[in-house]
Amino acid sequence: HAKAAGRNTFAIFGNHMDELLRRRRKLEHDLRLALETRSQIEAFYQPVYSAEHKGLSSMEALARWKHPEEGLIAPDIFIPIAEEIGLIQEVGAIVLEDACGVMADLPSISMAINASALELCSDGYPLRVLSRLAKWNIDPKRLEIEITESLALGGEGHSDRNIAILRNAGVRIAIDDFGTGYSSFSRVQNLMIDRIKIDKSFIDAVQGESRPLIEAMINMARAKGLKTTAEGVETDEQSDALVALGCDSLQGFLISRPLARTAIIDLYNGSGKRIITA
Ligand code: C2E
Ligand code: MG
Ligand code: MG
Ligand code: MG
Repeated sequence: HAKAAGRNTFAIFGNHMDELLRRRRKLEHDLRLALETRSQIEAFYQPVYSAEHKGLSSMEALARWKHPEEGLIAPDIFIPIAEEIGLIQEVGAIVLEDACGVMADLPSISMAINASALELCSDGYPLRVLSRLAKWNIDPKRLEIEITESLALGGEGHSDRNIAILRNAGVRIAIDDFGTGYSSFSRVQNLMIDRIKIDKSFIDAVQGESRPLIEAMINMARAKGLKTTAEGVETDEQSDALVALGCDSLQGFLISRPLARTAIIDLYNGSGKRIITA
């Protein structure tokens, strides 16, 4: 019967929803606990290659959740949960604190961290960042904060003012995943930013359909005095094409995957050059 079938379908769908909700609530609960104890969240670091200096000059801190039962949980999963339960600030604080430690260990490198829209819009954000840097005695010029396009251009909350406070103190601002948001080149011109990070989706096709777009992005950035980083560079061919187009920095599995803290410090202290020429 149609009615019975409908009921069955509903029952199955209902069970599935229940299961998803249960799993979601468990992750929320576990994340609260992890953030309270500051035990399971840590940062990995992905090297950034500078075409100008022909070497590794900076890195990006990327949050990881080492769940005791489920293993490594990706930020694309747990960052939105942290935002929803109002704990993204805690994630950001853990990553920033760890990143400050790495900057203290490696005095010649600069560091990028990612800021959630909610963090950047919140009233106390610039002061929190600047006071951590001061506590570690780290020059704010060594820190770059990556924000997403939609946020940067939206002007929601205190984001414009917060960006101004941070930039006045010397912190640099980058637009992450550039090209995927609601941007137009003319709007980017008015932004107080220092760098665009061209999204991996463009880099994937740099030898084909994306090439003119990437060229236009790099030329626009140049004209506005902005630096460019290519995200998700995976092949030598992509790397060669991007350097030829004048891209300032390259990031991606070709150079290195994100590494644990001890591994990145070893890499920058010693064998970095081996990777670059490989
Ligand atoms: P994102 O900031 O755009 O970071 C780049 C992502 O691409 C990272 O994923 C990195 O591991 C990955 N990636 C780098 N090179 C390659 C490559 O050559 N190929 C491929 N396939 N992937 C590559 P991850 O670490 O999973 O982070 C995902 C996103 O989560 C980040 O994107 C960022 O938006 C967010 N995120 C990470 N850490 C934090 C954090 O501490 N705070 C906030 N608010 N967001 C974070
Ligand atoms: Mg980023
Ligand atoms: Mg990105
Ligand atoms: Mg991304």
